[in-house]
Amino acid sequence: MSRLMIIGCGGVASVAVHKCCQNSEVFEEIMIASRTVSKCDALKEKLAPTTKTKITTAQVDADNVEELTALIKSYKPDAVLNVALPYQDLTIMDACLAAGVHYIDTANYEAENTEDPQWRAVYEERCKRLGFTAYFDYSWQWAYQKKFEKAGLTALLGTGFDPGVTSVFVAYAQKHYFDEIHTIDILDCNGGDHGYPFATNFNPEINLREVSAPGSYWENGKWVEIPAMSIKREYNFAEVGQKDMYLLHHEEIEALAKNIPGVKRIRFFMTFGQSYLTHMKCLENVGMLSTVPVDFNGQQIVPIQFLRRLLPDPASLGPRTVGKTNIGCIFTGIKDGKEKTLYIYNVCDHQECYKEVESQAISYTTGVPAMIGSMMVVSGLWKKPGVFTTDEFDPDPYMEALNRWGLPWVVEENPVLVD
Ligand code: NDP
Repeated sequence: MSRLMIIGCGGVASVAVHKCCQNSEVFEEIMIASRTVSKCDALKEKLAPTTKTKITTAQVDADNVEELTALIKSYKPDAVLNVALPYQDLTIMDACLAAGVHYIDTANYEAENTEDPQWRAVYEERCKRLGFTAYFDYSWQWAYQKKFEKAGLTALLGTGFDPGVTSVFVAYAQKHYFDEIHTIDILDCNGGDHGYPFATNFNPEINLREVSAPGSYWENGKWVEIPAMSIKREYNFAEVGQKDMYLLHHEEIEALAKNIPGVKRIRFFMTFGQSYLTHMKCLENVGMLSTVPVDFNGQQIVPIQFLRRLLPDPASLGPRTVGKTNIGCIFTGIKDGKEKTLYIYNVCDHQECYKEVESQAISYTTGVPAMIGSMMVVSGLWKKPGVFTTDEFDPDPYMEALNRWGLPWVVEENPVLVD
């Protein structure tokens, strides 16, 4: 019995809205509020005849705290689900605090303008202190801990698949299978084919920033940074097959390194085909991935934003993507004094997702956990004052919900390990 405000109406939001509408017992009312209200209205028109959930829509600029606070105060939701962009995380958290509602998102804060001198000073200090140079990190949102605690509100960070489900897999492994976890390898495999020479499966700007950055991993209490795409491994994924995968920096490593006692190494690998990497390198070499505005015929243009305009909209990939994703975590550690290895993963079929919610599996595997995380908070199962990632709660109800809402998982003992 709850009311949820969903901010953003892109690929991930569309799946989250579909899933809330399938779950009307929990989500009696939702508001879809985004920059382009016509997209919210179109989604409402499509779903309203199929659901008991009462849907309303609104136009909002989530960069504007006052405007957003007023909208939250007038709609009075129990919680706000942020599936806009990581650029809006802090303004939406501020608005939630001002309006007194819980906050949920799927990706940690990232500055839109990485040339902003104030942001840059904090970033450069953090790079030196922690030893990784990715533009995104948890420090900005963890700084809200006291504010949420004092307000008696929950901020649940990163409830997508990775981060999100992967960290719930870690909490589940720790609760049920290990006395001590020593290593975690998070493996994100997309075996899907959309038939385009080059496209990204979620917001191109966020995606390309992430994968073109230097890789890094956590080992023996510190970060080790490596040049982008310089560590490659092969893995034979269940229901997908043999794929090349590359070590990336990824945000859940930061939270897990802090929250999992005794962990010695955490790495994140993502699969890429050669064509994707060649295109990306070429775009990077000619400056198209830059976030710094350039003057073009008297107009300021941000190259990566212009590139986004040219690339296929991730939301349009659904009907043409075939194949499966396989995302999960491989653990090594100790149980009852003996060495143990374990793999927990989910396989998701692009075409099955499309049949169900008219989206490809990347939006699906993010939008479903966004709905589940929201359900955990509004139902009170995951509610405590402060700012938390998904590894900091009881994993069992979330794991059950994954099975029920379309992302069933597999536990495999003695898996093949990554070198
Ligand atoms: P899209 O670009 O498809 O959608 C973003 C939406 O946010 C658009 O509807 C956009 O509006 C809206 N928006 C952007 N800026 C504002 C603003 N200032 N005010 C209001 N609305 C705004 O992105 P995706 O759906 O692909 O991704 C959504 C989020 O999910 C991102 O944060 C991404 O990082 C995260 N993600 C997380 C994953 C995980 O596993 N944890 C995996 C994949 C994505 P408009 O329609 O006008 O452009």
